[in-house]
Amino acid sequence: MKIVELWYKLLVWLGIRKPLYQYLYVQDFPDVWKEKTVYLLGKPNNEWLAGLLCPCGCKKKIELILLPEERPCWHLTIHKKGTLSLKPSVWLTKGCKSHFFLTKGDIKWCD
Ligand SMILES: [Zn+2]
Repeated sequence: MKIVELWYKLLVWLGIRKPLYQYLYVQDFPDVWKEKTVYLLGKPNNEWLAGLLCPCGCKKKIELILLPEERPCWHLTIHKKGTLSLKPSVWLTKGCKSHFFLTKGDIKWCD
């Protein structure tokens, strides 16, 4: 483990920093999805599908298409510090009706 990761985990453990979303490249979505994880299908710079659990805690699996020719589609940015952003916002029209941005690994809720 790198010292930066260790430091980050310490800050999270101390409650100074919120745990951020991590991303994981997978061949296929796993059966059980972990919280605070964005699963990416495809290769780096060639991702086509992202999956994450709804951040409200309702356990809904959200799948986001990353192909620019599809509608709707989301734009994925992976930042140097290992965080990621998705644009535009994610808005669930059914169920919990969550509406949020995932920006640099952090959830920003919309009212
Ligand atoms: Zn939800």
